[in-house]
Amino acid sequence: MVEKIWNINQTEHFDVAVIGGGLLGCFVARHLSRFRLNVAVIEKNTDVCAEISRANTSIIYSGYDHKPGSLKARMCVAANRGFGRLADELSVPFKRRGSLMAAAGPRGEAVLRGKLEQGIENGVTDLSIISGSEARAREPGLDPGVTLALWSPSTGTVNPWELGLAAIENAMDNGAKLFLNTELTGVSVADNGYKLSCGAAEFTARGVINCAGLYTDKINEMISAPYFKISPTRGDYIVLDTYARDVINHIIFLEPEERGKGATLVPTVDGNVMLGPSEEDPGDEPFFGTTASGLRFVIDSSKKAVPALPLEHTIRSFAAVRPNIFWTEKDAAGNLRLSPESINDFMIGSPEGHPLFINVPGVKTPGLTCADEIGKYVAEMLSDRLGSVPLNTEYDSRRQAPARFSRMSPKERLSLGSGQRIVCRCIGVTEDEIRNAVRRTPGAVTVDGVKRRAGACMGRCQGGFCTQRIIEILAEELGENVSDIRKEGRESYLIQGGRP
Ligand SMILES: Cc1cc2nc3c(=O)[nH]c(=O)nc-3n(C[C@H](O)[C@H](O)[C@H](O)COP(=O)(O)OP(=O)(O)OC[C@H]3O[C@@H](n4cnc5c(N)ncnc54)[C@H](O)[C@@H]3O)c2cc1C
Repeated sequence: MVEKIWNINQTEHFDVAVIGGGLLGCFVARHLSRFRLNVAVIEKNTDVCAEISRANTSIIYSGYDHKPGSLKARMCVAANRGFGRLADELSVPFKRRGSLMAAAGPRGEAVLRGKLEQGIENGVTDLSIISGSEARAREPGLDPGVTLALWSPSTGTVNPWELGLAAIENAMDNGAKLFLNTELTGVSVADNGYKLSCGAAEFTARGVINCAGLYTDKINEMISAPYFKISPTRGDYIVLDTYARDVINHIIFLEPEERGKGATLVPTVDGNVMLGPSEEDPGDEPFFGTTASGLRFVIDSSKKAVPALPLEHTIRSFAAVRPNIFWTEKDAAGNLRLSPESINDFMIGSPEGHPLFINVPGVKTPGLTCADEIGKYVAEMLSDRLGSVPLNTEYDSRRQAPARFSRMSPKERLSLGSGQRIVCRCIGVTEDEIRNAVRRTPGAVTVDGVKRRAGACMGRCQGGFCTQRIIEILAEELGENVSDIRKEGRESYLIQGGRP
């Protein structure tokens, strides 16, 4: 079990402060812990992986989608090849479902052929183009109008937050410290590196890794002139219940005949079917809120790919936010403006004069696939710049997952003996699992924190029956009143009269 650490010690000096506990911050911390370095991860939310890393398409891409020679292409191909080993080390479920990128006309077919060539150039060795009828033999629900498909057997899927949680647990087991509810509000240069302010608390660190996702530009501007900006777009998703699990066997992309976004359908590791995302301007909507137009797009585009989708099994919709990244340029009048195109590669680097302050900004797809590769790249970049950092000889890359009743065989369940109380009946999550989730790592202090660790509330009732019992267990474990327990964010109290 890992130690719970909640408050920054004002006098503490760290070798490295990682800002942000999303997938990237968790994996950067994991790889920094391979070195003898005192590492702090600073996260403003009550839990890790509660922003971009919570809401994405959960695909482990094979690497045909990215420009040859780019960091994205190189990392994606390497990450996909090594993903089985990574999932095994971190004890997270990973399924190589294989993907079919389908087309139903000349424009889509040309895109597919281009992706095949690009994939081969990138070193993806198992791609092939198959006919529409061959594609339907593999995926019988595919639209009869599909004429051609790009088959990529090594494409897979994971649960993104399970992966991120596993990485931070592994980093903490190897010595990294996690500070939740801790928002970085200021950075300045200090004698021994950087002084970091988190509200009233201040501490120092020799190096800083900026993994603040949607806010990486703001963090960079605490120490440097702006050289990039994040301009977000949003996307909606729909999740179908496990009743619909047999409707597709593979990850499906439908390349549209008209320019624009196509459909994506994913059979998840948990047995659901996920549809989406759409792509829209964020407008005035709050981040991570769905819109009627976005959901309509997801329904219409998904039905173009698989017409008989059983949408009556819809159990949830959610929204994602994309951190599109632009260079900033000055116009003739000296005003800052964004580059005409967003940057389509990972652009890991430092602001001028700050080699030990490394920005990992605006990482979109395939950031989930490449999180471990990026973590390794950044940790090695920093250790090189720090110079002769000794290795952590006690580093252990393996992390043991907590037992999941729902994933046990009948024999394993019987071996637990009688007295297992099921709290979440849709998934089959026991009271012991929920208590262990709260005790195991910091962050399981809300209903969604429990959901991310134990899988409760993920079934067809979406917590309708079990939320009340989870609130009671959380209150008991944390020594709080039930009215103090929240769903996720700062003000999301679930019981009327909850703490203002
Ligand atoms: C719609 C969508 C679909 C995607 N689908 C896929 C996919 O299928 N496959 C794939 O490989 N990749 C996918 N990705 C990419 C992947 O999800 C991201 O690359 C990855 O989640 C980014 O993680 P992150 O750590 O950079 O950001 P985040 O998860 O947002 O983490 C940043 C963290 O920084 C914290 N933070 C911010 N400011 C501060 C501060 N001042 N102080 C302290 N903490 C702070 C935030 O609270 C947050 O927790 C997708 C991305 C999107 C948007």
